[in-house]
Amino acid sequence: MFDVVVIGAGPAGSSAATETARRGLSALIIDKEVFPRDKPCGGAVSGRGMSYLSEPIPSGLIQREIHEARIGFSSVTRSVHRDDIMAVVVDRAAFDHYLLQSAQAAGARAKLGERVHRLTDTGSHVEVETSRGTYHARFAVVAEGAFGGLKTRVRRKDRPDEMGLCAVTDVPAATEEIEGFPGSTLEMQLGVAGYGYGWVFPHDDHFSVGVGDMARLMSGPRARLADFLTAVRVSHLPSVPAGTRPLPPPVPPTAARARRQSAGIMSASAARTSGAISADRSS
Ligand SMILES: Cc1cc2nc3c(=O)[nH]c(=O)nc-3n(C[C@H](O)[C@H](O)[C@H](O)COP(=O)(O)OP(=O)(O)OC[C@H]3O[C@@H](n4cnc5c(N)ncnc54)[C@H](O)[C@@H]3O)c2cc1C
Repeated sequence: MFDVVVIGAGPAGSSAATETARRGLSALIIDKEVFPRDKPCGGAVSGRGMSYLSEPIPSGLIQREIHEARIGFSSVTRSVHRDDIMAVVVDRAAFDHYLLQSAQAAGARAKLGERVHRLTDTGSHVEVETSRGTYHARFAVVAEGAFGGLKTRVRRKDRPDEMGLCAVTDVPAATEEIEGFPGSTLEMQLGVAGYGYGWVFPHDDHFSVGVGDMARLMSGPRARLADFLTAVRVSHLPSVPAGTRPLPPPVPPTAARARRQSAGIMSASAARTSGAISADRSS
């Protein structure tokens, strides 16, 4: 019997497992994927997001230190500059892997490549059934991200009108182009193809370019992303190939904000770690 079983080893789950283990409680973290795993993401972690982490992000994981945000709407652009670091850009697969390894280093056990099918609150403890076995714990933390129905054990199902939708792609670029962007700047455009937004985030060898909106307003996410790629190329990124790259499948909304329940099962999410740059639900 574990004190806490955490379902999902994204930033929310791994952070929960780390904190649990550091408090001397036994923790088991389960993820259906084997890490490192891909996660569609712009890869920017805000200062506020970093403040929630148990320790500073190792420098080896930081691809860019961000000192400026450029936010545009229509023909108007405003820049915010800070001498200290306002955000960092990371490779999401490596970042999530690091957080999981931190949880393990703190003493959490991990079961990877194992999907949780069912959670049962027996009254005395929680029973967690996976593709490979059954585990028992005093408490469960559901950190399954946007997908999955386990969270409905403790809260209602997401309504379609609460969902956001993003499409993202990586655009390879030469170092000089990224440095000239400049590489310490995050750019966001509001009102992209309607009420949505688009982002251009510099990484080490590519830009992350994406668009997001409420799902009900986001018809044709691939076309919206292609339009944004074209607009970005026209304005200042000559190497962006104007939507000629094969675009990834549209990605779903990200997870909802953390909620707690009095029962032994909790739902957690790191969705709020960077409110400015995610398309998370706002309710
Ligand atoms: C296109 C896009 C771009 C984004 N860009 C940014 C950005 O630049 N900066 C930022 O801060 N945020 C960004 N976000 C938001 C960010 O990705 C989420 O807020 C964050 O991933 C939420 O973390 P999480 O730990 O709650 O869930 P996730 O990271 O989604 O992790 C959930 C984990 O649970 C596992 N899982 C799910 N179901 C089961 C199951 N049944 N059994 C076992 N395991 C399961 C999954 O495999 C996954 O590893 C972006 C989101 C999208 C979609």
